[in-house]
Amino acid sequence: MTVGSARCIEVALPAPLFRTFTYVVPEGIAWPVAPGTRVLVPFRNRPEIGICLGEAEPPVGITLKAVQAVVDSEPSLPAPLLHTARWIADWYAAPIGLTLRAMLPTALASAATPAPAPRTTRVVRIVQELPSLLQREQTFARAKQQRAVYDLLEAQGGTAPLEALRQQAGCSPGVIVAMVKRGLVEVRDEVRPRDPFADRAGVAPPPHPSPAQRDAIDAIIAGAPGDTFLLHGITGSGKTLVYIEVLRAVLRQPGRTAIVLVPEIALTSQTVDRFRGAFGDDVAVLHSGLSDGERLDAWLALRRGERRIAVGARSALFAPLSNVGVVIVDEEHEGSYKQSETPRYHAREAAIVRARAEGALVVLGSATPSLESWERAARGHAVHLTLPERAGGAVLPPVQVVDLREAVRDALAQRAPGAPWDPVTGILTRPLVSALAERLDRGEQSLLQLNRRGYAAYVQCHACGHVETCPNCSISLTYHRIPEGLVCHYCQHQADMPSHCTACSTTTIRPRGLGTQQVERVVAERFPSARIARMDVDTTTGKWAHTQILDRVGRGEVDILLGTQMIAKGLDFPNVTLVGVIDADTGLNLPDFRAAERTFQLLSQVAGRAGRGPKGGEVLVQTRSPDHYAVRHALAHDVDGFVREELSMRRLPAYPPFVSLANVVVSGADQKGTAQACIAVATWVEALVRAKSLRGVVLVGPAPCPIDRIKERWRWHFLIKTSQPSLLSRLARYVAERATVPHGVRLVVDRDPVALL
Ligand code: ADP
Ligand code: ZN
Repeated sequence: MTVGSARCIEVALPAPLFRTFTYVVPEGIAWPVAPGTRVLVPFRNRPEIGICLGEAEPPVGITLKAVQAVVDSEPSLPAPLLHTARWIADWYAAPIGLTLRAMLPTALASAATPAPAPRTTRVVRIVQELPSLLQREQTFARAKQQRAVYDLLEAQGGTAPLEALRQQAGCSPGVIVAMVKRGLVEVRDEVRPRDPFADRAGVAPPPHPSPAQRDAIDAIIAGAPGDTFLLHGITGSGKTLVYIEVLRAVLRQPGRTAIVLVPEIALTSQTVDRFRGAFGDDVAVLHSGLSDGERLDAWLALRRGERRIAVGARSALFAPLSNVGVVIVDEEHEGSYKQSETPRYHAREAAIVRARAEGALVVLGSATPSLESWERAARGHAVHLTLPERAGGAVLPPVQVVDLREAVRDALAQRAPGAPWDPVTGILTRPLVSALAERLDRGEQSLLQLNRRGYAAYVQCHACGHVETCPNCSISLTYHRIPEGLVCHYCQHQADMPSHCTACSTTTIRPRGLGTQQVERVVAERFPSARIARMDVDTTTGKWAHTQILDRVGRGEVDILLGTQMIAKGLDFPNVTLVGVIDADTGLNLPDFRAAERTFQLLSQVAGRAGRGPKGGEVLVQTRSPDHYAVRHALAHDVDGFVREELSMRRLPAYPPFVSLANVVVSGADQKGTAQACIAVATWVEALVRAKSLRGVVLVGPAPCPIDRIKERWRWHFLIKTSQPSLLSRLARYVAERATVPHGVRLVVDRDPVALL
């Protein structure tokens, strides 16, 4: 509003504050300043980039500071994105300035100088793959140090910086030189990791949709602006082709654009290749491997309309496209759509908000829809579409249960008198061994899944029972074999494997519980000529390691792909005819209301990787809880049955989707102080709820978090539950903004949490 000569605007600044600021726009700067425009303003004695939210009333009696410059010629954040930002700030109790900053590429969001020029690094890269244990033993029979270097390199995805590798291996440069001479590795100067999507070939989609796919496509494109569809298609039903045909229809309308969200680009390169195969250069792939400069280029290309489709993880939701016609959320049930730091938004929910503001269609796709989406459809807020059969004539694979308890009992009973107990029995049961052997004979591929990385889950003293735990977190340390040591999976604390128990000093300390490294070793010993690849956090630290491993599987260079939940997502390899789940129960007993849902989804998804081609396939699931409903329904491919049972569990005590939930986490270095601070905040909220007679608000706790210490901070929490989502917005915001905690204590409000650990 212009009062007299005062031209004022409201500006959001990237600070953890729940307020905005008013600046005056001096003569010489064009008026009005459009909302969504970046402005340079003095803030805390420094120039800072802020976002104009609109005109403001000049406050009375205060001298305002002046805008120094308007940075954009047109708004960086168009109206629908501003609307989405306001919704996120409101719903998730996030400061608006931080929310807006999260929407912009780093290069545009700060007044600091742009990213430094690229440097070159010497890197070592494996050029001769030695996938089988046999090959490796022959190659390195008289070269122990070379073997260590090779294993380390492989554990980092096949490439690593030279100097870091040499230090890790503790070897002289000569060892690596010798390996170069033998043609095992090469050493090169690399400017920075190459973007594999820049020169990857796209994959052409199937030419003709099936009748079921056609029906889904027609239903979606006939939708009205803002309509939401839940595309519930079983694994292998061809959801990607539905997305592609919907995109085609939308992009035929002049000026329209599209956003496609996938859980993680690196793990879904096959899906991305199909979009590129269908739309070529119209696709901008926004992935985490982009440098700040590349990200800015992609962002500008989208904003200028040079590319009309943004494909990416969570934050691609903020692509600066105008006139978006459809937003697709693939694998909408994935927990990775929730951001774990401020602003703690869920990309699926924010996508729906943006789509409504754009007048766009929304397609939520999954073989195992989230209960939230299921409820959304049941209440009529989304149209439930189904693809009940696999595309191209494939069928869902039969699933066989192997009860680990029986397998171990049988093996014990059949053991020859005096023979040593073979611990392998509990890792690879007989049915799994023979199923793997069959695949190797026939030249088919297998996937083995275990959702725990490292070699052993923990190390324990057999004499006193002491378990080695992280000094910073309430978590046992995981035993890793390459490089050898103990690692905390929460704070990355590393320790040497002790030779004596740190509690009782005996030498009976041993690794216990299974991890992927151990499975890899056992499989390699049992099948020495098999070509094995392992995919987990430890083998994929290299930027393109995921894609490289998956490409090798696609080219048929891997017989057995072993991995964590990473191998459950979207992979489509027709020659994979066997999926083995080593232990279905790893996540079942976590103290989290989503434990069963997550187990069901993981089992269904990984099972869905088998039998996608004409050769068919089968799934073997090893478990100690074959009767648990999450396991039972996953084995029967029965989503409806699972949802019915899980929903009935969520009614009492009430959990989402029946109530809205906020997890208030208080953390601090001092155990007692943290507990007291959390109790004080909870008491204060309770008093508020009583004083304002807020009906239907329930507090659960306060109590220590299930993992009550992470990174040297003690953690307490309480839950706020209510069936009125808008009331929770107000309460969450009130708590985030007004709760007082002592210095050094942190309070985080996590609205709609995906995990309560
Ligand atoms: P989903 O994502 O539903 O699990 P995908 O989209 O990966 O399934 O498709 C599974 C496989 O079926 C892919 O290899 C795909 O090329 C193939 N496919 C999809 N639709 C058709 C079709 N109409 N005709 C033939 N093959 C198809
Ligand atoms: Zn730790």
